[in-house]
Amino acid sequence: MAVLSHQHYPLKSLLHPVPTCQHQHRSHSVRVTTCSATSSTNLKPGSNPNQLVIEPRLALSSTTSTTTAAKSSPPLLNDPALQSTWAHRAWVATGCSTVLVSLAKSIAAAASSHIWLEPMLAGYIGYVLADLGSGVYHWGIDNYGDESTPIFGSQIEAFQGHHRWPRTITRRQFANNLHALARVIAFTVLPFDLLCNDSTIHGFVCMLAGCIMFSQQFHAWAHSTKSKLPPLVVALQDAGVLVSRSQHAAHHRPPYNNNYCIVSGVWNEFLDKQKVFEALEMILFFKLGVRPRSWSEPSSKWIEEA
Ligand SMILES: [Zn+2]
Ligand SMILES: [Zn+2]
Repeated sequence: MAVLSHQHYPLKSLLHPVPTCQHQHRSHSVRVTTCSATSSTNLKPGSNPNQLVIEPRLALSSTTSTTTAAKSSPPLLNDPALQSTWAHRAWVATGCSTVLVSLAKSIAAAASSHIWLEPMLAGYIGYVLADLGSGVYHWGIDNYGDESTPIFGSQIEAFQGHHRWPRTITRRQFANNLHALARVIAFTVLPFDLLCNDSTIHGFVCMLAGCIMFSQQFHAWAHSTKSKLPPLVVALQDAGVLVSRSQHAAHHRPPYNNNYCIVSGVWNEFLDKQKVFEALEMILFFKLGVRPRSWSEPSSKWIEEA
């Protein structure tokens, strides 16, 4: 199947469907195959065979074709793309240092004030919100943009590759897997380390930042087999402290639009039952005309390759 370089569809074309059938109009961005007009509330793909069908453009640039061909096979075991560089390790060390300084400042301030409950409660809230944040971020990069998107392009590309070859993440070296988030954490937490001495704020910041930075490690553990994991990790997964293998496995099965949270997974049931991400997708679609990738299933980009 053709690979979309950017899934942007003008809302106007959806709200004004072309009446009755067998007519095809090819534009720069989309090919519109019309059958019969449909209401705007029934636009989600696959829900009605008579609805207006918007197909992605089929013509690919030579650059995209070449890129796709180059990524048609999973990385090999010793692929440099899976190995840590000294730059990766330096960023992870920096990220960890900023989080540990925040933790130390929280403990020191709590010890001097003899107030422990508030920073511990703030830390727990940070841990819970980290799971929510991981879900929102994962949903965003799974569904929107592409490798050319500023700032997030490499993460979007990496997650697309992850959907095709999920178990590759278990062969990715530690710093290689964490360095991108560690870099963000280093820049975000450093100002708190330098300017803040409040035990509660640091309790919140160190737990939130630490869990977000290690979310990719928790994600990798969710893809490992039980026998290859340390017993403590298995125990934490089974207790729901870390995202479980079974819960995350559901993310990689149809309909490919749930279980986005990858820290503890505690938010997944609520977000999926309440259809929070589906509601956000509809809002973005009707406000901006942008379709999420999860509406285009089945797509080769999401399906695990044998
Ligand atoms: Zn995903
Ligand atoms: Zn995964």
